[in-house]
Amino acid sequence: MRRIAWALPAVVALVCGCGAGSAGPQAAGQSPGHPRGSVTASPARSGPTGILRGKVVAVDPGHNGGNFHAASVIGKLIWNGQETETCDTAGAETDGGYTEARFNWDVARYLTADLRAEGATVVLTRTGNTGVGPCVTQRAAIGNQARADAAISIHADGGPPGGRGFAILEPVADGPDDAIIGPSVTLGADLRSAFASGTGEPVSSYDGTDGVKFRDDLAGLNLSRVPKVFIECANMRNATDAALVTSPQWQAKAARAIAAGLTAFLAGTRS
Ligand code: ZN
Repeated sequence: MRRIAWALPAVVALVCGCGAGSAGPQAAGQSPGHPRGSVTASPARSGPTGILRGKVVAVDPGHNGGNFHAASVIGKLIWNGQETETCDTAGAETDGGYTEARFNWDVARYLTADLRAEGATVVLTRTGNTGVGPCVTQRAAIGNQARADAAISIHADGGPPGGRGFAILEPVADGPDDAIIGPSVTLGADLRSAFASGTGEPVSSYDGTDGVKFRDDLAGLNLSRVPKVFIECANMRNATDAALVTSPQWQAKAARAIAAGLTAFLAGTRS
């Protein structure tokens, strides 16, 4: 939730808003395939094929590629269960101009393939990277309507250039979502462990404590009625992390780690 230095309309200047969106029907469940066709799902990473059969996972790639040019749409205020926030934000980007929206989408595509290879049903909150939104409220609703067994919102931060690392954002007990706090914290712990071991990425040096940050200001968490966390995979404004997030190989590695975390939570495959 930091502001980028260069000039964007104020409403879209929030980086890694980690909130989400407004418009548009979501063709949940379409197969996105693999980015660039260069990496395939590995059957070896998380146990026997089919271990997630019968499980539904909601995958939310944060932001959207069209948000940069749709300030009036994504700037609309929504109620996130605690306060108002904007429908969505543009998200972060590297100093070289690789956008967080693109990164989130690329990782989501790998992750979707990985989860489906294990038999899961995957519901996506967007089906490409050229659209706008949907609003954060809708992103939460998609997971709820799917009665997902777990939901994950994929992001990368736009933090201070001197800081790096990943963080898991988890919900706070504040009323309507109390029932998901316990399982969400468990999901977050599984994801934190799997992401650290699977990618080697350190926990964030500036966000949260030991890789976990509790948030009560995000519609995506406040409005979820299924176990859900966000992950900030890295800091796009940090040179070391930027080299990672722009690498398809690292994106695939990050996706495998996220899949392993979800599988640990859903199928009890913790090591
Ligand atoms: Zn974000």
